[in-house]
Amino acid sequence: MFTPTEITEIQKLLTPNHNIVIITHYNPDGDAIGSSLGLKHFLKAKGLEADVIVPNDFPKFLKWMPEAKQIIIADYKRKQAGEAIYNADVIFILDFNASHRSGHLVAPWIEKARAKKILIDHHQQPDNFDFIYSDVTVPATSQMIYHFIQELNEEHLVNKDIAECLYTGIMTDTGGFRFRSTSATTHRITANLIEKGADPAMITSNTWDTNTVSRLHLLALILGRIEVVKDGKVAILWLKRDELKEFGFQKGDTEGFVNYGLSIMGTQVSAFFMEDLYDDFVKISFRSKEDVDVNQFSRKYFNGGGHINAAGGKYMKTIEETIVDFKEKIEQEDF
Ligand code: 5GP
Ligand code: MN
Repeated sequence: MFTPTEITEIQKLLTPNHNIVIITHYNPDGDAIGSSLGLKHFLKAKGLEADVIVPNDFPKFLKWMPEAKQIIIADYKRKQAGEAIYNADVIFILDFNASHRSGHLVAPWIEKARAKKILIDHHQQPDNFDFIYSDVTVPATSQMIYHFIQELNEEHLVNKDIAECLYTGIMTDTGGFRFRSTSATTHRITANLIEKGADPAMITSNTWDTNTVSRLHLLALILGRIEVVKDGKVAILWLKRDELKEFGFQKGDTEGFVNYGLSIMGTQVSAFFMEDLYDDFVKISFRSKEDVDVNQFSRKYFNGGGHINAAGGKYMKTIEETIVDFKEKIEQEDF
């Protein structure tokens, strides 16, 4: 939570004569887009305009969200994005904890910006910003936006657009209200969002009934060769660049693949390795159960981070070497 003094200061910043920008992390996911658009619609309900800027493009299955089409994608609109950040008086930093998570293009703009920076995020160890609301126990930044609205005493402004966006963020980051940090509070807020007009069936269908035949073929390929190590406690999945090309890979196609590793009885960790489509590195996703901390593991060995049960990283070796190194490191872990 922000302190009451901070809330008063933030409220003073939120005026029509201030340029407001909302930025989220590289490779935006459902919570990144949901929290950003949810906040934008809330500011709109307060009579304020705000630009949402994302570093790079986001998956098609999130583009149904109200005003998703107005999001400025910095990769495609460098000048517009750069100028908006340069001219901003207030920048909201949502769903990421350090400037570098917004990528090489946007991070320096954020660092140089003269705006007051307000961080709302649920990742560990945030960098320093003017205002910080960081809480790793909340399952989604979208839920934190709702708490922020409550702190501003403006819950009455929550409308259908806000509700749909925040619902989507909470639903996706909790894996459909299943992951560990999903709480009674999460469900109470979700219930409020439904009352304000969020339609669970519509949102689920728009977001998750979005398979393509090629995505299912890609899934079939990796499930066909899933490997389990460390006495059945660790599942490994992987995809090579040529395979991505063969199946006409689209952004977001591999979202959720890593979770299949955790669905195997007895696994504690699932690791998904994917060659980048263009550059020579391997993108890694880790998921874990209970107290097994993949955030620490990823920080220590794979140039990454995230949360206890969901983290990611990047590795500069070939995929084969990466998997060999991973097996060696994970065998040494104590779980
Ligand atoms: P995903 O596996 O869905 O890409 O990421 C899972 C979580 O780990 C997300 O919360 C994300 O913020 C974090 N994460 C993913 N990749 C990286 C990375 O390269 N560095 C850091 N610090 N965090 C990451
Ligand atoms: Mn999130």
